[in-house]
Amino acid sequence: MFDSLSSKLTGVFSSLRSRGKLSNSDIENICTDIKSALLESDVALSVVDSFIELIREKSLAALPTLQSGTNQAQAIFEIVNAELTQILGGAARRIRIAKNPPTVIMLAGLQGAGKTTLAGKLAKFYLDQGNTPILVASDLQRPNAVTQLQVVGESVGVPVFAPEPGNGVGDPVKVAEQAIVFAKSKLYNMVIVDTAGRLGVDEELMQQAKNIRDAVKPDEILFVVDAMIGQDAVRTAKAFQDGVGFDGVVLTKLDGDARGGAALSIAELTGKPIMFSSNGEKLTDFDIFYPDRMASRILGMGDVATLAEQAKKALNNESSAKLEEKFARGDDFTLEDFLEQLEAMSKMGSMSKILGMLPGSGAMKKQIENFDESEIVRTKSIVQSMTPLERRDPKVLNGSRRARIAIGAGRKVQDVNSLVDKFSAAQKMMRQMRNGGGMPPAMAQSMGMPAGMRSGQTATHKAQQQPKKKSKSGNPAKRAAEERE
Ligand code: GDP
Repeated sequence: MFDSLSSKLTGVFSSLRSRGKLSNSDIENICTDIKSALLESDVALSVVDSFIELIREKSLAALPTLQSGTNQAQAIFEIVNAELTQILGGAARRIRIAKNPPTVIMLAGLQGAGKTTLAGKLAKFYLDQGNTPILVASDLQRPNAVTQLQVVGESVGVPVFAPEPGNGVGDPVKVAEQAIVFAKSKLYNMVIVDTAGRLGVDEELMQQAKNIRDAVKPDEILFVVDAMIGQDAVRTAKAFQDGVGFDGVVLTKLDGDARGGAALSIAELTGKPIMFSSNGEKLTDFDIFYPDRMASRILGMGDVATLAEQAKKALNNESSAKLEEKFARGDDFTLEDFLEQLEAMSKMGSMSKILGMLPGSGAMKKQIENFDESEIVRTKSIVQSMTPLERRDPKVLNGSRRARIAIGAGRKVQDVNSLVDKFSAAQKMMRQMRNGGGMPPAMAQSMGMPAGMRSGQTATHKAQQQPKKKSKSGNPAKRAAEERE
């Protein structure tokens, strides 16, 4: 979403880093460049003006105290990073949990903003944390909104309170009120109320939302806004703030490629934090919004913290402990371990999303966009067609075994060869790492990740060299025995 903003800002800082001592006029130039990058990305003018003023003031004040060289550029970068984090809301805030359950969360926003989808995502998120949420179908206007919520609820395993059919039938305020009574009596500790939106802001919509708000007294009203609607996002946010009031913002459709700067202005202009972000249609395409992590991404430093969290979630404790133990014992990283990692990786979402969180990903945008997601599936199918022995010891992979694997996986022998070669190189690097080298990007490399994305590596790294050809046993009986394993 913020790719073009990110690549412009990264450009500003990379040219700054190559400079020697910075002067006041350099600071002015940086401010002009940052300002135009923000405006081109649709960030609201008033937000840009006050942001640039702060950057200018702080940078000019810091300059005389800084040594010349990269220190200066780094210091200016840190000032921009800190101020960008502030614009995005400063510190992350979590949902307030009611002292007396249930905690009531009401979703408000225009039709199509993504409220119903978000309701499911929130329900899953809180369910996974050990809560007992219910979803409430108070959007009785939009065609099929009730059914959509029921489908979403079913897919995440959360009950849906939907006594009315919707499609214009039923009283949404009564439904919300009854839902609270129901949740209390059945001891559900969280109630997520989906409300109706309209295509534009109108009085009837605001009044209905206000009535629901007054009836259920939510602990949190979340304003849900489609980040792709440009400056309308800011106007709509202000209208909802005046009309209904809200406690936090959820940005949806951050996976889109439109200029999303307007959405970045919302926290600053409304004084309400962005609490969650939604970046796809799947129920797992959902994150807590951390202003510092988003600032880091926008400035081209990636979001390694989120990546690490996702990896931890995907690679369950047992398998990561097993891998660590193996590693400590000095055992080799095998294709079996590799397969486990591939499976964990698939759970983390698409490869482009994962790659997009790495530092410097802005510069690799093209490669990331062109990353062939099915490559992982193909790689998996090759490893799955191997016998346990072959996975543990790829050295046994002679020509006929490779041909058998290729047929099993529906691939060419060259594909099998290429995977085995890359894996052997990765395995070699794992050994080097154990002997004191850096972290090898084994998985990344084995899956054909763009060379520039692999930390500490270049495309001409050893990994690309062909390992020596293995000799087959000359003894036909021994060879046949090997192949049977
Ligand atoms: P509502 O009218 O506010 O309840 O909006 P919906 O939840 O029905 O969402 C409207 C459309 O946007 C649906 O087609 C959703 O699948 C889609 N959608 C919701 N959130 C996202 C998102 O984060 N990214 C993308 N690409 N689509 C989304």
